[in-house]
Amino acid sequence: TAPERIRNFCIIAHIDHGKSTLADRMLQLTEVVDARQMRAQYLDRMDIERERGITIKSQAVRMPWRVREGGLSGEDSVLNMIDTPGHVDFTYEVSRSLAACEGAVLLVDAAQGIEAQTLANLYLALEDDLTIIPVLNKIDLPAAQPEKYAEELAHLIGCQPEDCLRVSGKTGEGVSHLLDEIVRQIPAPVGVADAPARAMIFDSVYDVYRGVVTYVRVIDGRIEARDRIKMMSTGAVHELLEIGVISPEPLKGKGLGVGEVGYLMTGVKDVRQSRVGDTVTINSRPATDALGGYKDPKPMVYSGLYPIDGSDYPDLRDALDKLKLNDAALSYEPETSAALGFGFRCGFLGLLHLEIIRERLEREFGLDLISTSPNVVYRVNLDGGGELTVTNPSEYPTGKVAEVFEPIVRATVLTPNDYVGAVMELCQGRRGSLQGMDYLSADRVELRYTLPLAEIIFDFFDQLKSRTKGYASLDYEPNGEQQADLVKVDILLHGEAVDAFSAIVHKDKAYNYGVGIAAKLRSLIPRQQFEVPIQAAIGSRVIARETIRAIRKDVLAKCYGGDITRKRKLLEKQKEGKKRMKMVGRVEVPQEAFIAALSTS
Ligand code: GDP
Ligand code: MG
Repeated sequence: TAPERIRNFCIIAHIDHGKSTLADRMLQLTEVVDARQMRAQYLDRMDIERERGITIKSQAVRMPWRVREGGLSGEDSVLNMIDTPGHVDFTYEVSRSLAACEGAVLLVDAAQGIEAQTLANLYLALEDDLTIIPVLNKIDLPAAQPEKYAEELAHLIGCQPEDCLRVSGKTGEGVSHLLDEIVRQIPAPVGVADAPARAMIFDSVYDVYRGVVTYVRVIDGRIEARDRIKMMSTGAVHELLEIGVISPEPLKGKGLGVGEVGYLMTGVKDVRQSRVGDTVTINSRPATDALGGYKDPKPMVYSGLYPIDGSDYPDLRDALDKLKLNDAALSYEPETSAALGFGFRCGFLGLLHLEIIRERLEREFGLDLISTSPNVVYRVNLDGGGELTVTNPSEYPTGKVAEVFEPIVRATVLTPNDYVGAVMELCQGRRGSLQGMDYLSADRVELRYTLPLAEIIFDFFDQLKSRTKGYASLDYEPNGEQQADLVKVDILLHGEAVDAFSAIVHKDKAYNYGVGIAAKLRSLIPRQQFEVPIQAAIGSRVIARETIRAIRKDVLAKCYGGDITRKRKLLEKQKEGKKRMKMVGRVEVPQEAFIAALSTS
């Protein structure tokens, strides 16, 4: 296809504002999917996405469209719709998807107005100089206030309220007009046709049958089906097995030229060989400069994952190996915990990423898992020189720390005016610092904070929702690091540190953390033959203490010698329990106690 006829766009929206539904309507109107094949959220392929209604992996679909009304009537075009992941954990992937486009449909629920992710995605799109088409969705809803939110939207992006299109992804109203406007307003791609080929990878998916499928947008030159391709970040060369476009199923083709969007298949088995953001060129005539913007995915949040049944450990390892094929951002290494046995320390992009991986391990691989409370990555300068990266609190070098740095995020909170006080109180309590505040309209406020990431991954979102009756929305992105006054709190059972409960916390919060965990463990751990102290300590300084008193009676004493079967049952039960006991020093702790303590902390 000639570049002049191509339009590459994405839809950006806050979660639930109707992006997937609108995409479905577009597929139908362009007759890429017929009514018979149509099922809701055609593009959301993974089960978890479907159930949670979120888009995790982006996809691209090619849709032919002939302009129906107004200017350019009758013009034939090819629209490439690139679906962006909708969640903060995947900001980098969003930014690559945007970089593959010339324009963005900014979709806003006409009953809700602008939300935090609307803003975050808009800012990313503006950084890439995309043409923005403002669209109000769900105008069929009785609660829709298109007039009000057109004002808000126009004010935000600097256009006239009348420029905001109105559609309903549900009924299809206005969608054909929107497709016409995409052709009229979004610029055609521009590239150098006879230059050495350069294509940007914006997604990479592992498929059991086909190996890695890589989605690319060609910037310059052309990739032909018979070419050998080269990854510019690593220099790795691969045979090209297939090249084509998705519409909506893969259609094998002869090649891809300037501005075109499609897929490549090389038979490699690991998405790490074909990374989002990397530049693909041709081995026989390679480009010299890669396209900008490539970043290695960097885990932001760590957690230990352990099988509840220790014999599942090899299965857990196999499952992680398989998931890694499809997830360049997942990292893990074996770890042993005195409390939990053998497991893995895993690195994730964020909390949602962690949840998704955990859920997939449990659901797709049938594993029962326990995860330690998530922590961020700390950079520690040691006394007397030397630097250390700490991804596991139990490895924190207490006593030798000169200074420690923690990751910071820039957060955007959108809230109705009435809750500004509540939001500020929450952010201040989480060591936030206010960077700015704007009124989007008379009753809606945008608050910008910098906050330690560690404070956000701990229950922040739930708190925000409950303090604002669900009205506030949040988005954040990494924003460097800052020095902080942090300490490691250890939890000791009978003098023995329980690694799974060590935590790195701010000095002012150490006491609360210690008291909380100690009290919880006291209520969860059964009495032993001897008295067991539970202590929370910073280094050798004890900051909290609880005691489990010694047991007096034998477990059989209750049975007055009479009923032999009952006695036997009791002994059996005790034996069962023993199997799942963990020894921490001299103390026997049922694994359930650890699980319970971790799951609610
Ligand atoms: P996404 O998270 O942005 O992909 O949003 P979805 O497309 O999954 O839509 C979220 C919810 O809004 C679903 O329950 C949809 O059925 C509903 N929805 C989407 N578009 C419309 C619309 O135009 N009108 C109405 N009434 N509901 C819609
Ligand atoms: Mg969706």
